[in-house]
Amino acid sequence: NELELHYQPQIDLSTNTIKGVEALLRWNQKDDGMIPPDAFVPLAEECGLIVPLGDWVIGEACRQAKEWPDLTFAVNVSPAQFRQGDLVATVKNALEREGIDPSRLEIEITEGVLLSHTDETIAVLAGLQAMGVKIAMDDFGTGYSSLSYLRRFPFDKIKIDKSFTMDLGLCADADNIIEAVIKLGASMGMTSNAEGVETVEQANLLRNQGCKEVQGFLFSKPLPSKSISELLTDWQWQKYQNVESSFSKQERPC
Ligand code: C2E
Ligand code: CA
Ligand code: CA
Repeated sequence: NELELHYQPQIDLSTNTIKGVEALLRWNQKDDGMIPPDAFVPLAEECGLIVPLGDWVIGEACRQAKEWPDLTFAVNVSPAQFRQGDLVATVKNALEREGIDPSRLEIEITEGVLLSHTDETIAVLAGLQAMGVKIAMDDFGTGYSSLSYLRRFPFDKIKIDKSFTMDLGLCADADNIIEAVIKLGASMGMTSNAEGVETVEQANLLRNQGCKEVQGFLFSKPLPSKSISELLTDWQWQKYQNVESSFSKQERPC
């Protein structure tokens, strides 16, 4: 019972409100404290434990979603969860058990999911989408052939990796790539989310570029559910308009 989900708000840039959250796994180890997912998810993937662990994440996120009826919630899913187990049944059971509308759930996958067993994987993705669940392509732009994945499956959302967001306004190439990805997504009926927004400047640039949704430390780090509930009652967009940049042009040369 040491696993926990933390949640990072996702901000809708057209309404300046919290539209959803991304669930991020933590291991609250009694001796070593909070262990981040990068330190144990790869190991769990290697030994197969990611399947029961991932099932727990889906169940727990659905349970929590009942408390926040107006929010969408995103869950990260590993390649092994597509190959082993029955992801469609797991998701369906969890949603039904908690009485959650499938359209509130978003499954985030990285290119690793599409690298092997492609036909089977696409069948699972199609099964989830047929149920009404949304599918997001995570970490877009960091893989080997991101563009080709957009032709293989009709994703609902593209999540632009934080490595691009970090250089927004500082490097013309990052600005151009982000703008092109947002336009490309829109032309294919996909919304875009830019991750890793840390400054007001980045948020404003993204809005001007037509980005629909952002998340990042500017608004909130991933937080335990109780803190998210507090944030939801106390949300004021104006608070984030005068935050000082945490880094300057000089610190991050192009
Ligand atoms: P991700 O899905 O790309 O999640 C975003 C990561 O970026 C999170 O790290 C988050 O804390 C961090 N982040 C968010 N905003 C900012 C920002 O403004 N600046 C910076 N520098 N970082 C930001 P976290 O929580 O440590 O998660 C790391 C990765 O672990 C996730 O990357 C995801 O790939 C994986 N992960 C997390 N939870 C799960 C899970 O339940 N299942 C699986 N399979 N993987 C998970
Ligand atoms: Ca993610
Ligand atoms: Ca990501």
